[in-house]
Amino acid sequence: MKSPGISVRPIITLEGGHEVNDVFLDNVKVPVENRIYHENQGWTCAKSLLLHERSGIAGVARSKRGLERLRQMARSELADDTGPLLADPFFKRKVAELEIDLTALEYTELRTLAGESAGKGPGPESSILKIKGTEIQQRLTELTLEAAGHYGAPYLRNAPHNLGAVGPDDAHGVAGAYFNVRKTSIYGGSNEIQRNIIAKVVLGL
Ligand SMILES: Cc1cc2nc3c(=O)[nH]c(=O)nc-3n(C[C@H](O)[C@H](O)[C@H](O)COP(=O)(O)OP(=O)(O)OC[C@H]3O[C@@H](n4cnc5c(N)ncnc54)[C@H](O)[C@@H]3O)c2cc1C
Repeated sequence: MKSPGISVRPIITLEGGHEVNDVFLDNVKVPVENRIYHENQGWTCAKSLLLHERSGIAGVARSKRGLERLRQMARSELADDTGPLLADPFFKRKVAELEIDLTALEYTELRTLAGESAGKGPGPESSILKIKGTEIQQRLTELTLEAAGHYGAPYLRNAPHNLGAVGPDDAHGVAGAYFNVRKTSIYGGSNEIQRNIIAKVVLGL
């Protein structure tokens, strides 16, 4: 990062956080001893690393924790005068559908991990993990924001007239997470590109 020609420009994500940057490489010279993999085969190397990145993006464990947190919130939140939100059949159904999809994803991930333990690197199934995992993360943050209702909004860092904390503690950060997680279907190769990979490598189209 100290080499001449490298410059870094911050990108502010939708919720107002700074965790990513534009990195520009302008005629940067890399000494041969710092080269990674074979000359002119950088993309081959990057593609193999991306398989691992995409498996990681699936984020099953994080979504399981998020689902448990959502359940806790929905047990205490009241849906109008009808009792806890989780007793509302429409909301309960959305939570159940999410859990079913997450469980199916977990088993797909376990199959991939079993393959890796047996010395088989992740293959194109990492694209399946990436698509399903990110769709679940987005549905989960949508439902969590729905459970927090209007208490979610004041915690947005870049909200106009941000008044700070009001409402229950578990509403904290919910709106920020909702906006931040929109990125997941884009980064690591957009989900449309993952569908192209599955079409080509898995379905042979
Ligand atoms: C928060 C965040 C973090 C990121 N972190 C990194 C990082 O650490 N390192 C890094 O190198 N990059 C990073 N990226 C960049 C990311 O990988 C790209 O944004 C992503 O690959 C999409 O490329 P693009 O933005 O150029 O969109 P484009 O390629 O311009 O695509 C625009 C739209 O067209 C669709 N599209 C494009 N081509 C096709 C096609 N052939 N078939 C069907 N649909 C198509 C895309 O899916 C998308 O919806 C990050 C992005 C975000 C948002």
